[in-house]
Amino acid sequence: MTAHPTPDAPDTTTRAPLIGLHAVRAGYDRIEVLHGIDLDVHAGEVLAVLGPNGAGKSTLLRVLAGLHLPTAGDLLMGGRVMTGTDPGVLARRGLCLIPEGRGIFPNLTVAENLWMMTNRGPSRDQVEERAYATFPRLGERRAQLAGSMSGGEQQMLAMARAVATDPGVLLLDELSMGLAPLVVGQLYESVAAVAATGVTIVVVEQFVRTVLDVADRAAALVGGRIVVSGTPAEVAPQLHSAYLTTAARPTTEVSP
Ligand code: ATP
Repeated sequence: MTAHPTPDAPDTTTRAPLIGLHAVRAGYDRIEVLHGIDLDVHAGEVLAVLGPNGAGKSTLLRVLAGLHLPTAGDLLMGGRVMTGTDPGVLARRGLCLIPEGRGIFPNLTVAENLWMMTNRGPSRDQVEERAYATFPRLGERRAQLAGSMSGGEQQMLAMARAVATDPGVLLLDELSMGLAPLVVGQLYESVAAVAATGVTIVVVEQFVRTVLDVADRAAALVGGRIVVSGTPAEVAPQLHSAYLTTAARPTTEVSP
């Protein structure tokens, strides 16, 4: 379904997608978990992909980041086929995946975690400034060990590390994992703040409807297929039945 631009949402109808998947199939050994995914992500938009446990959300993000090679179909960037491109090259072109489980260094302070991102070019002061502008709470905790912060703050730090590299596209894997609803709400306010700086965002979640509040477009991924897509207002009412009717589909074993 094509999104209809509104004064507040990016116009996704006139520009080539920034990144996308075309007829992507992917899996592990002979088990196929993505069964033909078409996905367009336009510059400046927030795309939410919702799906139940095991639907293939992390796999989809890993394919987008170039970390998982599809068995069929293509990864596209600016209309060019990038399938099989080294993930490091994609990262240098601005793709940044924040994996489930945060990927920060618990025994380092907040500032030290941020300083590690200077290997991409900016100075220590620059990465800290950039991070604290979007996540002021981290500024108050700059000397605190990352592992001693709350789960929500750690997730903020993971996002701040990514933002410090000035990414074009942020791929967020289940930000809300293990966090209380209030904290999830605050985190998604931060996501909206990051998006407002022009970063394109693809975020996957299981049941968290809060993500729909900040998304320009949404899709439901169930059993390795996109079963519903459109504006958040279009997708939200269909989520429940999409999960219930198709969640039980088995993954497909690929013939040798
Ligand atoms: P969750 O919400 O539980 O993280 P998900 O929607 O992100 O699920 P994936 O993590 O992409 O789903 O997993 C999709 C399927 O692929 C699942 O059946 C999972 O068990 C399987 N899978 C994921 N990673 C591997 C792996 N490294 N080796 C084998 N199978 C895997």
